[in-house]
Amino acid sequence: MRAGRHNMIANKLVAARSGDSWLLRRQLEEFASTVPGAAAGNLINGAITVVLMRDTVPWPLLGTLALGLCALVVWRFLIARQANRQFRNYVRLKGLSNQILANAIGFGGLWGCIVWAVMYWGTSVDSIFAGIVGAGMMSAGVISYRSIGKAASFYVLSWLPGAALALTSLSDDVAYACLGLLVCYVVVLGANINTTAERFITGCERERELKRSRDTIGLLLHQFTEQGADWLVEVDRRGRLLNPCTRLATATLLPQETLDGMAFHSLLNPDESAAELSEHFRAGRSFRNHIVSVFVGGEKRWWSLSAQPVKDGRVAYRGVVTDITAQREAEDRVTYLAHYDSLTDLPNRFHFNQQLYQALRTRKPMALMYIDLDNFKAVNDTLGHSEGDKLLKAAAERISSCLTRSDLLARLGGDEFAVILKGAEACKVDEVAARIVAEMGQTLPLGDHDVVVGTSIGIAFAPEHGDKADTLLRNADLALYAAKARGRNRAITFEPGMDQAAQDRRLLELDLRNALGKDEMRLHYQPLVSVADGSVTGHEALIRWVHPERGIVMPADFIPVAEETGLILQLGEWVLRQAIDDLAGWPEQMPVSINLSPVQMRSPTLISTMVNAIAANGVDPARICLEITETVLMQESEANVATLHRLRDLGVQIALDDFGTGYSSLNYLRSFPFSKIKIDRCFVAEIDSREDCRAIVRSVVSLAQSLGMTTCAEGIERQEQVDMLRAEGCGEVQGYLYSKAVPLEQLSDLRGPRASASVVLKDFDVPVAVGKAFANKSRVA
Ligand code: C2E
Ligand code: CA
Ligand code: CA
Repeated sequence: MRAGRHNMIANKLVAARSGDSWLLRRQLEEFASTVPGAAAGNLINGAITVVLMRDTVPWPLLGTLALGLCALVVWRFLIARQANRQFRNYVRLKGLSNQILANAIGFGGLWGCIVWAVMYWGTSVDSIFAGIVGAGMMSAGVISYRSIGKAASFYVLSWLPGAALALTSLSDDVAYACLGLLVCYVVVLGANINTTAERFITGCERERELKRSRDTIGLLLHQFTEQGADWLVEVDRRGRLLNPCTRLATATLLPQETLDGMAFHSLLNPDESAAELSEHFRAGRSFRNHIVSVFVGGEKRWWSLSAQPVKDGRVAYRGVVTDITAQREAEDRVTYLAHYDSLTDLPNRFHFNQQLYQALRTRKPMALMYIDLDNFKAVNDTLGHSEGDKLLKAAAERISSCLTRSDLLARLGGDEFAVILKGAEACKVDEVAARIVAEMGQTLPLGDHDVVVGTSIGIAFAPEHGDKADTLLRNADLALYAAKARGRNRAITFEPGMDQAAQDRRLLELDLRNALGKDEMRLHYQPLVSVADGSVTGHEALIRWVHPERGIVMPADFIPVAEETGLILQLGEWVLRQAIDDLAGWPEQMPVSINLSPVQMRSPTLISTMVNAIAANGVDPARICLEITETVLMQESEANVATLHRLRDLGVQIALDDFGTGYSSLNYLRSFPFSKIKIDRCFVAEIDSREDCRAIVRSVVSLAQSLGMTTCAEGIERQEQVDMLRAEGCGEVQGYLYSKAVPLEQLSDLRGPRASASVVLKDFDVPVAVGKAFANKSRVA
């Protein structure tokens, strides 16, 4: 029991010490603030009373009362001084409060005595004086003790004995009535004292809460301003900055003193967004994430502002500013990348399509150019991607130098570009295209190399060739395809027939996919003949597609499709097996030449197929000659040369085919130890009439000899050509003069070694296509 009670008291004390000392201190402070006024009132009224009553009230009594009053005033001052010292110790504060109670009782009692003395010794006029002074002092005292209700009550009650004694001593009805009124007066005052004291305490509590929350907010704001990425801004009613923080100063490069009182608006870019912000301020609206721009040190920055109106002293608006420049720049960059190509800075496919749709919607005539760089892939593969990128940039510049401002050039991806020409420009499209082809035909310096890329262009007009974007794009693409098919490096305008050609190609591709499965492929053989004695020195395997409806399809018509679709891998493998299989039945020493597509060079199964075919048939690998073209050396040259070495290590011969048709350079002869060089038909065709052709053949033959390689001239149709070649030292020839490529069963010479070439010159099963199938080979590169 005792322990419980003890605990309770202890708890109360802790609560009192920690909780109420602040309230008590506020009460004492309030009391102390009234002391000078209350002291003055007491002293003045006391002095007037002494002066007026000096002859009425006996001196000793008057003197004692006056001295008592002075002593109480001095005591009150001493209490006030102590109260102002801001004690935090509750016990000391409580002591002071008790002193105030005692002091209040002293004052109340003393004034009660003064009133009694005046009424007792004085006249009825003196009594009126005493009544008025007493009432005044009583209510003024209550006011001065307003913060400490108990003191006010004690003060009033202490009045009662003296006043009651004075009134009853008068023994008059009026005096009794006055006593009754006095009691009522005290009751009313008492009630008032309670409400006033309560109100004071509630006010103090509210003040304390406010202070606490202000402290917390202040703390948070401080942390926020000093540590966060954002900063706080306060402005007054007129939009002038108040208490600018260091962060704002850093962000604006202005000293805090300059910012203080500066119009917030003067910091902003005077644009629409800033005007909208003023409107928010004027209307007293709160707003969130309002974006404005500012110029800081000549650099544009973006701020996001959120603020709301407040009433806190001079602060009319308080808000947060976030610098979103980095975010904004990132967003701009993303938008840019969504519409532009980062390498060339040209609009990309997405942007181009948007522009095309818009241009078509106007229903005005326009032209569309599809541009493709002819040798981009070769350059990219040979010189590497960084040189390829440089080439694309240079190409973009060259193409745009041929255009006007109103034309839109875009990079659609890879080496594909496109141009929209609107209005009057569209009529000049042929001229513009020719300019681009000529410009791109010029050599272009790339690092240590000079390259010629060349372009093919497909043109389509709206609305003639289509008023929908898809149609127009497809038709320009078909025209581009035709430009490539017709030997590249040219511009071709769409013609309705091209659509048919594209469809035909698609059907051919479909048929080709099934051709091997349906056993429609055949190998024909064309003999190679020795210039010295006219004997057959070997046979080149040339593929034919025997289609049930198309008839015999020549390789020029389907090999490019097979290469594009990748079908060449299956096809090439079939050719290898079939040719080696056939070879096994031939007389010893009779070799076979097999064409290899550049695409096959990248096939991981090439070597194993070779090995298997050789092993399965038990043929001497030296009887196999693989013919490759210069493109193999241009594309991924390192990997391809490595593959060539591995093939050579198997014991297979390697010949360089079509020498002179590619981007010929005698340097290719040095890049790999070929067994044989096959000089292309284009040099041989006019060797008997053109000295330059003869000179080229001479230099190739002599270089080949010096490198230990043999030479073979292709496409021999006349005896004069053979005579010339013999004179130049060429070892082998191949051509219609001796035989076209024929099916194996028609090669009678293969029944015995070293048969005469003339034996095979009979039955041609091949439709005569001299010059037609190879029309595209007649160009000297
Ligand atoms: P190529 O390797 O240069 O083959 C020689 C081509 O010239 C053959 O055409 C041949 O029939 C033709 N030709 C031969 N002598 C003469 C002549 O005196 N005058 C004329 N005008 N032409 C002559 P073909 O058989 O149409 O082959 C064309 C090309 O197709 C070949 O050119 C070769 O690059 C490719 N090819 C043929 N068969 C295969 C194959 O099995 N695999 C691969 N990858 N390509 C092949
Ligand atoms: Ca060949
Ligand atoms: Ca050839």
